[in-house]
Amino acid sequence: ASRHSEDGVLVIGLGRFGSTLAETLQELGHHVVAVDSNHDLVQRWSGKLTHVVEADATSEEVMRQLGAHEFRQAVVAIGTGIEASVLATGVLLDLSVAEVWSKAITREHGRILERIGVNHVVYPERDAGERVAHLLTGRLIDFLELDDNYAIAKLRAPRGICGRALEKTALRSRYGITIVGAKKPGGEFTHAEAGTVLDVGDLVVIAGRTDRVESFAAEIG
Ligand code: ATP
Ligand code: ATP
Ligand code: CA
Repeated sequence: ASRHSEDGVLVIGLGRFGSTLAETLQELGHHVVAVDSNHDLVQRWSGKLTHVVEADATSEEVMRQLGAHEFRQAVVAIGTGIEASVLATGVLLDLSVAEVWSKAITREHGRILERIGVNHVVYPERDAGERVAHLLTGRLIDFLELDDNYAIAKLRAPRGICGRALEKTALRSRYGITIVGAKKPGGEFTHAEAGTVLDVGDLVVIAGRTDRVESFAAEIG
């Protein structure tokens, strides 16, 4: 029988990114096994995380003994040591972990990971930089690019679309965006419908191509 539950996630590397990821997954109720080769870090996290193992993730033998092949999902959260990142990713792929996510620091690092067959590359520093740029420049309160050039965002309803039903605003044809949900101050988000009438001060969640989301958010009230 498998030692690790179906929704288990193997996290390699307990730096700032890996430890936050492991802690969050555990809070969300997932079975998490975290691996780091640094003795002090393993000690530090063993109080907070249920399963922390001190091991070298670049060794296939070690990872097999640890049961890495029993996980469906694993994340390699080693950034600065590109060699260790690539080797640890390769070991997980060789052990047939179905979904391997790896953190990359540079585009070149990400390309190597892609070439060896990783399923997802994440660029935390780059993504955070982009995100903060969007939050700084527009009227966006929250912003998430889901895919290349497709995003959802939270913002105050621009004045120009308030006071009449959404179906009368031609938002999709004029701005190429869809209002997903809306909420009144102090209220909760609900689905936006054709008949929804927004008031100044309402918050909206919108979805659309990133450039269209940005130009909509830049539109002056
Ligand atoms: P962050 O920015 O998230 O803090 P980082 O990108 O600077 O991290 P590193 O510090 O290079 O990444 O690595 C993250 C963790 O991975 C470190 O705690 C390190 O000890 C661990 N690590 C590095 N190589 C290995 C390895 N071969 N096996 C297991 N853990 C490793
Ligand atoms: P990241 O993880 O985003 O790549 P980091 O968190 O590792 O960056 P550093 O590399 O320490 O941060 O610093 C980022 C940049 O800030 C570097 O290019 C560095 O040269 C610059 N920097 C550091 N200290 C100063 C300073 N006192 N004045 C101006 N620039 C500075
Ligand atoms: Ca870093």
